[in-house]
Amino acid sequence: MSRMRMRYVKMSLGADPDAEPCVIQVRCTGCGAASTPVPEQFPGEQRDRAEEWALSHTGRIDAEGRHHTGYQVTVTMFWRVTPHEEIDPPRGEQSAGSTPSETG
Ligand SMILES: [Zn+2]
Repeated sequence: MSRMRMRYVKMSLGADPDAEPCVIQVRCTGCGAASTPVPEQFPGEQRDRAEEWALSHTGRIDAEGRHHTGYQVTVTMFWRVTPHEEIDPPRGEQSAGSTPSETG
């Protein structure tokens, strides 16, 4: 029988300081073509560029002479959880096959 030791650790959640605040990208639901992902400072900041890409894509015809009119717009945000105290063992000290919180 094993026992598990648990502890309460306060954590904060916020934007990842090492990533772009947001990234917007448009994908055609007809053929899968996608715009180049564009970094944004806030969601929707580059919406005009996304709309231009979709309108331009619809303006073209495919091999069957059809226009593509459906789009998936994705705005991606990156978060970071910051524990208020150390929750991981120091690098190189974690042994294989056991977790730090298990005892006995
Ligand atoms: Zn398309």
